[in-house]
Amino acid sequence: MFPLRRVGSKALEQWKAPIAIVSRAKYSSNAPQPLSVLTEDELTMKDTIRKLATEQIAPLVRKMDDEHKIDDGIRQMLFDNGLMGIETPTEYSGSGCGFLTMMLVVEELSRVDPSVAAYVDIHNTLVNSLFMKVGTEEQKQKYLTKLCTEYAGSFCLSEPSAGSDAFSLKTVAKKDGKDYVINGSKMWISNSDVAGVFLVMANADPTKGYKGITCFIVERETPGLTVAKPENKLGIRASGTCMIHFDNVRVPEENILGEYGKGYKYAAGFLNEGRIGIAAQMIGLV
Ligand SMILES: Cc1cc2nc3c(=O)[nH]c(=O)nc-3n(C[C@H](O)[C@H](O)[C@H](O)COP(=O)(O)OP(=O)(O)OC[C@H]3O[C@@H](n4cnc5c(N)ncnc54)[C@H](O)[C@@H]3O)c2cc1C
Repeated sequence: MFPLRRVGSKALEQWKAPIAIVSRAKYSSNAPQPLSVLTEDELTMKDTIRKLATEQIAPLVRKMDDEHKIDDGIRQMLFDNGLMGIETPTEYSGSGCGFLTMMLVVEELSRVDPSVAAYVDIHNTLVNSLFMKVGTEEQKQKYLTKLCTEYAGSFCLSEPSAGSDAFSLKTVAKKDGKDYVINGSKMWISNSDVAGVFLVMANADPTKGYKGITCFIVERETPGLTVAKPENKLGIRASGTCMIHFDNVRVPEENILGEYGKGYKYAAGFLNEGRIGIAAQMIGLV
């Protein structure tokens, strides 16, 4: 097996082989490299994940589907192999790979179990990416390392009356001293059955409309946060999709991720990456 990440191991050094240089050597002109042509590293990666999925995930697919739950051993295996921090830099215990590699991983996992692929995709493209791109150094140290090694993350935007029109969300975050108090409900939230941290889009100033939407980091143990049982879905049943309630959930001001009032921008931007992940999932399924 060829793990993405074993911190300090030879495998990591091997994996850090520069993909871009291989590509440039092959395509010496200035023309962009076609995405359909994979480098040796990328092909090795595909083979590795295919083997891992076939040998370790496939035997558990039916059980996980029946139980509405990704097997704990499989979740641990994903952490052990660096698949929960694919793009995250190695300094935060990630694998330091690129976006295309991440899509190849999602595609190969989806070939065997789209639930596991969704778990990995949403965690990497929506949660880790947001921390990486707009988090403070302190937030990255505190949460990114754990997201790569310990727990999954959830991205909480949709609500019972705010799906496609996500910016009409009703969840509010009211300032109280140096804290914010969050009230509202989120719906269809992936990974929320097991997530250790939630990125919650809440309106901190409804008078400003969607420009009040701000992204808050909420830890699972925060009083007032409750996660309902997973929805009984027709497909990707092992992927936990739950409703979450926020009843006076108090978070300190430093739990704002990125800029105050920029939540709508982050949601729109990062969902684009997430959508590419869903496309990779569909390719894997074909
Ligand atoms: C398995 C699963 C996992 C999910 N995971 C997450 C997650 O992790 N985090 C999260 O925040 N959300 C998540 N969602 C929610 C998902 O993003 C929403 O379901 C999606 O945004 C659509 O919202 P909705 O279901 O309310 O449908 P609606 O918005 O009610 O749309 C229903 C239909 O009406 C159409 N429609 C809507 N508005 C218009 C319009 N103005 N004009 C024409 N047609 C329109 C839509 O295209 C669609 O076909 C998940 C959903 C599922 C099913």
